[in-house]
Amino acid sequence: MDLDLMTHTALRGESITREQALQVLQAPDAMTLSVVAAAGTVRRHFFGNQVLVNHLVNIKSGMCPEDCSYCSQALDSTAGILRYSWLPREQIEEAVRAGLAQGASTVCLVASGRGPSRREVEMVAGIVEELKAEHPEVTVCTCLGFLDEPKAERLKQAGSDRYNHNLNTAEDRYGEICSTHSYSDRAETVAHARSAGMDACSGLIAGMGESDEQLVDVVFSLRELGVESVPVNFLLPFEGTPLEAHRELNPLRCLRILAMVRLVHPDVEVRSAAGREYHLRSLQPLALEVCNSIFLGDYLTSEGQAGGADLEMIRDAGFEIKGRVDSTVLAGPHGTPSVAVRSCGQGGAESGCGGCGSQGGCGDGHAHQAEPDDEPRVDAAGVPIRRRGAGAAQPA
Ligand code: SF4
Repeated sequence: MDLDLMTHTALRGESITREQALQVLQAPDAMTLSVVAAAGTVRRHFFGNQVLVNHLVNIKSGMCPEDCSYCSQALDSTAGILRYSWLPREQIEEAVRAGLAQGASTVCLVASGRGPSRREVEMVAGIVEELKAEHPEVTVCTCLGFLDEPKAERLKQAGSDRYNHNLNTAEDRYGEICSTHSYSDRAETVAHARSAGMDACSGLIAGMGESDEQLVDVVFSLRELGVESVPVNFLLPFEGTPLEAHRELNPLRCLRILAMVRLVHPDVEVRSAAGREYHLRSLQPLALEVCNSIFLGDYLTSEGQAGGADLEMIRDAGFEIKGRVDSTVLAGPHGTPSVAVRSCGQGGAESGCGGCGSQGGCGDGHAHQAEPDDEPRVDAAGVPIRRRGAGAAQPA
């Protein structure tokens, strides 16, 4: 594997070859940090040390008639997520404000479902118009499912800068993860969004049983579509979905996947998206070396790391939030904490000292939905997959 050659190719804005992409994916664990360093050189060449912060607002959750097997929002899914129809406008505005206050420069308005009716497009267009009037500097991304050309044009006219619609997996595997629509349906919507003048945000979900070749295929297909943003999701195996048993990723593998995507898409936004916390675990900050974009806080139906912890991670790793002139967002509210001295003698974390735990129990400033009986579910690996409705597990 000639990493120097790949780096030089990518620094010219060109993609590495499929063979090289496979080599990156299949690099031994001991080579993974070298692969990250190569991808990091490219990332810093095109994006410096800036991180784009995106904030998801799930404006309609669950009850989707489609059968995407990874998705907690599909009608057949019994995952314990919140399900609701369109959120009232005030709640959407509140959620948007919370994200912006934490430093987000892109707001993603996401609705479950096959696609919006004309009336629903009008409703979302109204929200986008208001949002852009109040915050012209904010990038608005909409994600509502399949679009035809007139609907795409209406969203663009309202001010939607970007449209998200993921390819998710390789064309020759698509029929195995979904039967109610096809890969080409998805590619068509991406094309409609682009021809209407919106940037296309389209990515993948890794860890659904695909081969390395299929992973490479979808990443090259995204390049062929000319997308401006590539969210890389790692499968969140929601209990109650057909893919609940999939556990095929580990942190080093995830880093190699991200590095491969960066070397194929040297100069476009690459986002470490859903599954970042769950699969990268303690190696999360290394994703910033490769990706220039993350979601802040929660995903569509699962909790992410608390927004404050995301900001701290960005700051600690020496990065800056793109588009923020207000350095107080990164400075953190408390400065460097003092060293906590144990006062309980023996015992582990359960020794009764209180504290807020590590799973977002401290307020993170988000407009969270009401949580029914919402103790986080802890899976076999001891990692919680919470059942929020405010974030976004796997964007539609
Ligand atoms: S990914 Fe989108 S289209 Fe598929 S089931 Fe989930 S919400 Fe529906």
